[in-house]
Amino acid sequence: MLSAFAQRVISLEPEGAYQVLARAQELEAQGREILHLEIGQPDFHTFPHISLRGIRAITEGQTRYNPPAGLPDLRKVIAEDVGQRRGIEIRPEQVVVGPGAKPGLFFPTLAVVEPGDEVIYPDPGFPTYRAVVDVAGGIPVPVPLNEENQFSFDLNIFEELVNEKTRLIILNSPANPTGGVMPMSDLEVIASAAEEYNCWIISDEIYARLAYDGQKTPSILSLPGMLERSVLVDGYSKTYAMTGWRLGYAVMPEDLAKRVELLLTHSIGCTATFTQVAGIEAITADQGMVSDVIDEYQRRRDHIVDGLNAIPGIRCQKPQGAFYVFPNVKSFGLPVSEIARLLLDDAGVAVLPGTDFGRYGEGYLRLCYAASMEIIEEALIRMAAFFEGVNH
Ligand code: PLP
Repeated sequence: MLSAFAQRVISLEPEGAYQVLARAQELEAQGREILHLEIGQPDFHTFPHISLRGIRAITEGQTRYNPPAGLPDLRKVIAEDVGQRRGIEIRPEQVVVGPGAKPGLFFPTLAVVEPGDEVIYPDPGFPTYRAVVDVAGGIPVPVPLNEENQFSFDLNIFEELVNEKTRLIILNSPANPTGGVMPMSDLEVIASAAEEYNCWIISDEIYARLAYDGQKTPSILSLPGMLERSVLVDGYSKTYAMTGWRLGYAVMPEDLAKRVELLLTHSIGCTATFTQVAGIEAITADQGMVSDVIDEYQRRRDHIVDGLNAIPGIRCQKPQGAFYVFPNVKSFGLPVSEIARLLLDDAGVAVLPGTDFGRYGEGYLRLCYAASMEIIEEALIRMAAFFEGVNH
C-alpha cells in the first residue's frame, strides 16, 4: 500500500474555520440552533449589478480560456484602481489575476523562497501563510502581535528575528484574525529591515477597503523603495462579497509577475473568464454599495465590542479594520480551544480559538461580525450567560 507522502505536505493542517463549521452543522442536523460567528465571509449577497454582469458574460459566450495572468482589461483597471488608492504608479504588466487572493500568497512565495530560507509572518495570522512557507520548504518564523498596539508586530521581537537569512516578510493589515491595522511608523521599521537584509515583502491587503472611523489603512508599498521588493495581495471576496466567485490579484515587480504567470499557467491555467468580467464591473461601477456595507460593519463592530467588554472577564480592543474581533479571555484560565468547544456545544455559538491562527493566539477568541445584528445580539446574550458560569 502506498503511504509515503512528500515532506512538503506532511505538516499541512486544515483551516480551523472549516472544522468548526463542520461541527456546527453536525449540531444543526441534530436540531440545535447555532449562531455562526466562525467563518470569515460577508453575510450579504454579491451586489446585483456585479452578478448580472457575470451572468451576461456567460450568455455572451465568455466561457473560454483566457491569458494565465488575467484579462488585459481587468489587469488595466486593477492597476489604475490600486495605483490610485495607494498613490503609486502601477503598470498592468505588474498585475497577476488569480482565483482568489490565495494564489497571490502561494505562487509569489514559491517563486522567491528557497528551501531553508527564513520567512517572517504574523502570529496569530491567516493559516495559509504558515502552509505556504512549509510547502516552499522555508523555515517559519512567527512574530507575535502586540495587543496594546492594535495587534501590530511586536517590533522588539521582530528586530531580534529578522536577519540575513530572512528571505520574505509577510504582512497582513487590516488583519485576520485580529482586525488590527499596522501603523505607518511600524511599517517604516519593517521597510528599513527589508532593505537592510534584502528581503521580499508580501503585503496581504485583502481587508484594505474594510477600514473604519473614516480611516485609510497605510500600505508598505507607498514607502520609498518598497515597490521593487513587494507583492501587494488583494481580492474581491471580502469587499464585494464574492467569496465563491474566486477572484483576486497580486501586484508585483514585472520580472516576478512573469515567473508567477508561469506557475499559474502550469497549475490553474487561468481564472474563469466570466468571473473576471464581473470583476471589471465591480471595480469600475459606482462604489456606493461598498461604502454602505462598510458603515454597516462599523455599526456591528461597535455593538459587538461594547457587548463583549460588558461581559466580566473579557477585554476586547476596538479593531480598526476587517470584520473580526479578537477578545482576550485569559482571565478564565482555560485553553481557548476548550472555551470555543464549550461555547459551541453548550451555548450554540460558533467561534474560533485564537490558537487556530498560531500559538500566540492562546488566550483569545476570534469572532466574525459579518453576521446580522440579530445574530450578534443573541450571541452576546448567550456568551454573557455562558461566561457567568465560568470562574475568572
Ligand atoms: N488573506 C486573508 C487575510 C484572508 O482572511 C483570506 C480569506 O479569509 C484570504 C487572504 C483569502 O481570500 P480569497 O477568498 O480571496 O482567496
